[in-house]
Amino acid sequence: MKIHCPSCGKEIETLKRFCKYCGYEFSDDDKKQFSDYKWQQWQNENRNSNFEKMLLIKVGIIAVIVIIMCMLLSGLN
Ligand SMILES: [Zn+2]
Repeated sequence: MKIHCPSCGKEIETLKRFCKYCGYEFSDDDKKQFSDYKWQQWQNENRNSNFEKMLLIKVGIIAVIVIIMCMLLSGLN
């Protein structure tokens, strides 16, 4: 989802008071829509980084279990 100027339809990167392409003055609803989009984007990034952290923790736990198993097995032999 991208924000487009309601007047000229150009994609807006940073929302200022006026569209830099056509000079359209953004309404409060336009600004609200834009901040919602930014917020969703931030949330998605946050979720992805949490997922990566959880994956690293799981891999770490499995590695520790494998090492302990190897030590136990070599101790028995
Ligand atoms: Zn425009």
